[in-house]
Amino acid sequence: MNLLDATHDPRLRSWVESANVPGGDFPIQNLPLARFRPAGGLLHAEEPLRVGVGIGDRVLDLKLGLQLCPWADEMYPLLDALASGDLAAFMAMGPRAWKLLRAGLSAALAEGSDQGPFLETCLLPRAQATFALPCRIGDYTDFYAGIHHAHAVGLQLRPDNPLLPNYKWVPIGYHGRASSIGLGGPVRRPCGQMRSASGTPRFGPSQRLDFELELGLWVGQANELGECVSIQAAEDHLFGMTLLNDWSARDIQAWEYLPLGPFLGKSFATSVSPWVVTMEALAPFRRPFARPADDPAPLPYLDGEFNRSHGALDIHLEVWLRTERMRQEGLAAMRISHSNALDAYWTAAQLLTHHTSNGCNLQVGDLLGTGTLSGPAAGQGGSLLELSHGGRQPLVLPGGEARSFLEDGDTVTLRASCQAPGAVRIGLGQVSGTIQPA
Ligand code: CA
Repeated sequence: MNLLDATHDPRLRSWVESANVPGGDFPIQNLPLARFRPAGGLLHAEEPLRVGVGIGDRVLDLKLGLQLCPWADEMYPLLDALASGDLAAFMAMGPRAWKLLRAGLSAALAEGSDQGPFLETCLLPRAQATFALPCRIGDYTDFYAGIHHAHAVGLQLRPDNPLLPNYKWVPIGYHGRASSIGLGGPVRRPCGQMRSASGTPRFGPSQRLDFELELGLWVGQANELGECVSIQAAEDHLFGMTLLNDWSARDIQAWEYLPLGPFLGKSFATSVSPWVVTMEALAPFRRPFARPADDPAPLPYLDGEFNRSHGALDIHLEVWLRTERMRQEGLAAMRISHSNALDAYWTAAQLLTHHTSNGCNLQVGDLLGTGTLSGPAAGQGGSLLELSHGGRQPLVLPGGEARSFLEDGDTVTLRASCQAPGAVRIGLGQVSGTIQPA
């Protein structure tokens, strides 16, 4: 099956020069979407949100583009939906519309396009855009698909039996909190109830604040209540991906999580990157999905031919940390971890299919977190809990500081990119959050 078309051609270049710089996140082969308003200046203060396309270091304003540029007939309904300023209205139009938009934008932004002179006036520097969440998020579910994370955390809790017997059979997840999802920026240290040495729990600021390196999946097609989405149909329900940081207060979490799972240790904040990289843009980076030979095969409802041949995604992930003192001393952020989404135990399609397998209805704009994506080796933990071995081996930072968990003023940045032979590198951008005092 060939998932690639002219929009993935590595020879394709854009008339937006910054899109052709090798190593950039947003070449013309990517075309991620985000919701934004032009920033700065009193004139723009009341500007409504609109959807834009990331190209090089610019944002193409599709609301202006609809007004100022001629398009092929089939593009108008798509651009009308996007000009309403809500990505959900467009996602709801379905996979055929997603493909049409990508082809139309690729042609319009390609070198030599007749539309270039019109669209040139619709570009603004990315730094002059204020971003918003891509749409209203109705529901947010966080899974636990990173087996190396599950194993490392399990090892700290149950050294003899790190992986619970259900792990290799059922994609574990919990219902998260949609209202506290944001784009990063300041993140306040949460207060909560936690164990204390006296035996009586205490209430106060979390002392074991952590990040979790995850990917977020945007649901682009709804299913009716009672209707299960088969593994064969699941890909048509997935619109795209972002980076996701599932901030976690380990001390609050450790005290509250039995027997019903995560609650206030997680729900104070979740941060996502503003750009939605579409599943189509990720097509060159799909890989076969296979389990180790000794592991159980997924049950039939979680197993399909396409999922086996193309279900996994080769996405390189990174975590960067910069403390307040590093900022003051002019020290650059340090990369403290890296991993790859290929190590996930469940594919995006399996997560979506499993979520609907009881008839639960997903809605356009729902967000699914993959779970922490750690790698198998040292230095590939997707959380400080893993990297510092539960706080017993603090990370040493440039300037001599040490970190077991996050301190006030720490900035955590997640980044991701994809590379493959015969494809142009694309990136997911980044999401950054800085811890504020409780
Ligand atoms: Ca998580």
